[in-house]
Amino acid sequence: MRRFTKSLLSLLLISSSMFAQEAENQEKKGHYNTSKFKQLDDVLPTPNMYRTGSGAPGAHYTQQKVDYVMNLRLDEDKNRLYGEENITYHNNSQDPLEYLWVQLDQNVRAKDSQSPDQRSEGVNTVYSPEDFTKKIMGHKFDGGFNIEHVKDVNGKDVSYMINRTMMRINLPKPLLQGETYEFSIKWWYNINNYIAEGGRSGYEPFESGNNIYVIAQFFPRLAVYSDIEGWQNLQFWGRGEFALEFGDYDVNITVPADHVMNATGVLQNTKKLLSKKQYKRFEKAQKTFDNPMYIVTPEEALEAEKGRSKKTKTWHFKAQNVRDFAFATSRKFMWDAMAVDVNGKTVMAYSLFSKEGNPLWEEHSTRVVAQTLKTYSRMTFDYPYHKAISVHARRQGMEYPMICFNYGRPKPDGTYSDRVKYGMIGVIVHEVGHNFFPMIVNSDERRWTWMDEGINSFVEMLAEYEYDPNFPVRSLPSGVVGYMGGDQSRISPIMTQSNNIYQFGSNAYAKPAAGLWMLRKSIMGEELFDFAFRTYARRWMFKHPSPADFFRTMEDASAFDLDWFWRGWFYTTDWNDIAIKDVNLFYVTDKPTPEALELAKRYGITPEQFGPALFLVNEKSEVFDENLKSVEPEDYTVLSGHINEHLDEEAKAELTSAKYIYEVTFSKPGGLVMPIIVEFEFEDGTKERKQFPAQIWRFNDKEVMKVFGFDKKIKSITVDPENELADIDESNNSWPNAKPSKFEEFKNSKK
Ligand SMILES: [Zn+2]
Repeated sequence: MRRFTKSLLSLLLISSSMFAQEAENQEKKGHYNTSKFKQLDDVLPTPNMYRTGSGAPGAHYTQQKVDYVMNLRLDEDKNRLYGEENITYHNNSQDPLEYLWVQLDQNVRAKDSQSPDQRSEGVNTVYSPEDFTKKIMGHKFDGGFNIEHVKDVNGKDVSYMINRTMMRINLPKPLLQGETYEFSIKWWYNINNYIAEGGRSGYEPFESGNNIYVIAQFFPRLAVYSDIEGWQNLQFWGRGEFALEFGDYDVNITVPADHVMNATGVLQNTKKLLSKKQYKRFEKAQKTFDNPMYIVTPEEALEAEKGRSKKTKTWHFKAQNVRDFAFATSRKFMWDAMAVDVNGKTVMAYSLFSKEGNPLWEEHSTRVVAQTLKTYSRMTFDYPYHKAISVHARRQGMEYPMICFNYGRPKPDGTYSDRVKYGMIGVIVHEVGHNFFPMIVNSDERRWTWMDEGINSFVEMLAEYEYDPNFPVRSLPSGVVGYMGGDQSRISPIMTQSNNIYQFGSNAYAKPAAGLWMLRKSIMGEELFDFAFRTYARRWMFKHPSPADFFRTMEDASAFDLDWFWRGWFYTTDWNDIAIKDVNLFYVTDKPTPEALELAKRYGITPEQFGPALFLVNEKSEVFDENLKSVEPEDYTVLSGHINEHLDEEAKAELTSAKYIYEVTFSKPGGLVMPIIVEFEFEDGTKERKQFPAQIWRFNDKEVMKVFGFDKKIKSITVDPENELADIDESNNSWPNAKPSKFEEFKNSKK
């Protein structure tokens, strides 16, 4: 401010009040942009004693706990799973509960399941026999739960009612705060061949007569009861995933004696289950940090695959504070292992795979598990469990506490393409990463797919780059451009309940991940973002966060008002498109231009009364001539004759460095507000970048201007040159406009 005299200052005041007038007019025209920067208070739930305005759990935050003791038996001949489970339900909420809701996910494959009926389907030209009987003849696999009994601790039948995939347990009297209710369920079901029938769980058959079983959602599991919506009993339709309580598990699984198994939890009887040699390797592996080593070797797996034991073995697992339980078992499995140092604590990375997975699996799987644990632990909290397992399962990509099922199979001759390799590495990072979101930061998947898939897909990219700097990551901002700018009738906001989402992958995985990526890289910066993101993960570790808890924590821990970002990116389907509309080059002159004289006349002053002044003349202006342009910065000292008296040396030096003055008009055809990243390339080949915050659009949603002074001439200007902000139309990003617009391209192609 010290550089301006009173008279100029007063001019500025006049023009700023004119600006206010202009803004008001724009508001009337609908350009004034209060709505996009409006705080989210009207959208987010009111903070309360359970969930605070900061996004942290509140003083009265509670969650239920459910413990399971289960005895399971796999009948390999009939492909059936039998289970008896004892459930202890702890009511930690302040609410008396009249009933409990239990999820019967297997009923999605019951004969009367409505899940296949919800899809609109026309005729195909080719069907597999299975698909023909299923889709045309209406034959349905009978894969639902057979509930044999539900009994209380005294062996008395408990009243229950089944509504498709949900079972209501009618309590004899309301269960009060602090009370527990214990009951048992006996059940069995036909395991589906998931290759033929689909599903996240089931078996894959092989020509040898052997199967690989990847078993999940296999037992009646308690639904979540929370302060947000009471019972989360939205039906399981097959897509929207799960909402589950934490608890302790004690599980015995009886399978043929020649099977190799792993599951959620600490294996209690390792020594009894493994051969002497295998147990020695198991112990050695716990101290082997550099490379994976086999506990069950390829040779042992090949040998086991030839037989079919009639004997059984029971694998015993105990897990504490997990939200689910899953297992994988087959005589085809080999097992490799590697110890991982997670901040001074040893965690075991394991893989189970059959010969069909090699050589790809022995090269990458366990190493990828290790990398994932390291990257995610750094970004969130130290991985709290003792192991993480990756299981090779064709066409699967599914996560459970400590264990996940992953695709990626070489050709029969063992060769594989980069696509198969990166697909396999990517899915392992992703599914192991799900240990953090949602297995530990336990969001409600059935309502909000993005809270686990989107957040997880974001951290996934960091781990993939760390595993292989050339990794073809999938969810960068530039990768969602086609989706966001595509057919708007097939796009839903990210904040859409999982079963109602159009284009699931783009909406619930890529777009939220890309959004977080741009917040970190281009909007907040890594330091602020990482601290806030870690704060969210730690606050909600082993708890049930909601979207508001995430949005609020990211702001609370960073002093970044991101309401505009959440509002636009998560609650609308608007896209980002920022363009360069116009560029004007100005030169400095020592002669008052006709416009300046006109301005002086309007305010009733002489040009001298401007005080020390620099007059700018537009290159395109009628009065512009070479004579005006010829003033060189060194000559600025003569301007109006006053400069020397009023400016110190530093200010003078700065003044003379701006020889070319550019006025750039940015327009915003897109609905989103976003920062403007602008890159200048000069005639000498050098480049410079400037970034303006999204708030630049506060007072005008359509068009803003900026002035830049340089000592050299610009060759080109580009908005968002690396497409960090998912700009959907790059044809309008440059000046001079090098790329033809899409419309021009279309016209040219017609010619
Ligand atoms: Zn996922």
